[in-house]
Amino acid sequence: MPEIKNRLKELRQQIETTSKIAKKDTDSVTLLAVSKTWSASALRAAAAAGQRAFGENYLQEALSKKAELVDLDLTWHFIGPIQSNKTREIASQFDWVQSVDRLKIVQRLATQRPADLPPLNICIQLNIDDEPSKSGAKISELMLLAEAINTQPTLCLRGLMIIPTPTDDITQQRQSFDRAYTLFTELASRYDGVDTLSMGMSQDMTTAIEAGSTLVRIGSALFGKRLPKSDTSP
Ligand SMILES: *Cc1c(COP(=O)(O)O)cnc(C)c1O
Repeated sequence: MPEIKNRLKELRQQIETTSKIAKKDTDSVTLLAVSKTWSASALRAAAAAGQRAFGENYLQEALSKKAELVDLDLTWHFIGPIQSNKTREIASQFDWVQSVDRLKIVQRLATQRPADLPPLNICIQLNIDDEPSKSGAKISELMLLAEAINTQPTLCLRGLMIIPTPTDDITQQRQSFDRAYTLFTELASRYDGVDTLSMGMSQDMTTAIEAGSTLVRIGSALFGKRLPKSDTSP
């Protein structure tokens, strides 16, 4: 799959160029390869081109790929909505969880993270545009959640993850990103380990980096357009 290798190279260049222009004190931007719906062979191709961090949304799908790729040294991020009956496996199988948005999930992940593993890295998912019935904590709940995570020895609070309202209006997009950056710097000033602002996807990566993102989650710009899930699941 030479196209994956080429796209990775282009994405890395784009990230580097944009970060130089952005002049935020974030000195590096991590590229997370969002591999939902793609087969283990696509992930293997990305890994062969130097990609280490992968993001998955669906637990069972992620576990089967992870099992096929045990020979590789990869980092796994869970980025999908979390049902509480899935927390045990998420806590034991992933290195990062970016979609933590309520206390119940914090408590379950903390209790279920195996003691022989390093602390589970956590980003709080914020509903940054306060959209009704969308995943993510309310901004007013942020500091309470952060404190709850910070008191758990099996968890490590790393930052925020946001998915703004999809829009072509770049000003509106930038406002959501700026709001997230402000909350991120406030969080980082309170908690030592906080270094991650996860924002930016294939469509809005550049704007997100300009606004101070430290981690972009890229799916379609790397692997190609996804088929609807119903067409790819058995
Ligand atoms: C699917 C997904 C992405 C990647 O989206 P693309 O537009 O394909 O880059 C990023 N973040 C989350 C939470 C996702 O579910």
